[in-house]
Amino acid sequence: TEELLRKSDKLSAVGQLAAGVAHEIRNPLTAIKGFVQLLQSRTNENRDYFDIMLSELERINYIVSEFMLLAKPAQVIHFEQRDIRKLIHNILSLLDTQAIMNNVQIQTEIDPDIQSIMCEENQLKQVFVNVIKNAIEAMPNGGLLVIQVRHKNKSDILIRFIDQGCGIPKERLPKLGEPFYSTKEKGTGLGLMMCFKIVEDHHGHIQIKSKPGKGTMFDIILPGE
Ligand code: ADP
Ligand code: MG
Repeated sequence: TEELLRKSDKLSAVGQLAAGVAHEIRNPLTAIKGFVQLLQSRTNENRDYFDIMLSELERINYIVSEFMLLAKPAQVIHFEQRDIRKLIHNILSLLDTQAIMNNVQIQTEIDPDIQSIMCEENQLKQVFVNVIKNAIEAMPNGGLLVIQVRHKNKSDILIRFIDQGCGIPKERLPKLGEPFYSTKEKGTGLGLMMCFKIVEDHHGHIQIKSKPGKGTMFDIILPGE
């Protein structure tokens, strides 16, 4: 519990910081990007450098956007009962191409008893996108991702993602959700931080079990009513 509390303190501090800083970074960034593009259009030289500058600017922009999302839930949190099947299938249609390109098959098993889930839809979608992306990225040689939705107990709903990916060594599990913790060359290490924050805003929690070389079981537990 103490570990959880510590993590949530860290998250809200980061969220507040994000609100102010992200916004301030955006404007100068847009100006720089505009002038880089202008200079690029005036010459045929240094094309590689221009490309690098623009893609690095794009990366800053992406990280800033992730941070801005973090700051959002506190302001516009609006819970509604949403159709969980629709929600998941929406997400899957977004990630279809990525899954196919990576030879990942996705299977869903949703308890017919469960129709809807109390959530802020866009936020929960963000969580699912991040978790599913991580699962796909963990299976560079393809594999199966199973998504299950069912009752965990009388009051809680379990949304479980089981992949056959690289897994996570036990000693690294506590690092998950820390800002900028990533083992990927192009990773941001912000996805899971956002997931923890959003699930927490939903009064739920996340449990991760993993076997290196075998795969990962990523559980999101949300209150039923
Ligand atoms: P990113 O995906 O940008 O690296 P995340 O916050 O989404 O950042 O994830 C942080 C790290 O957690 C990843 O770099 C990876 O090491 C680990 N991770 C998350 N999900 C999985 C998974 N399903 N299988 C293996 N490792 C994972
Ligand atoms: Mg990720």
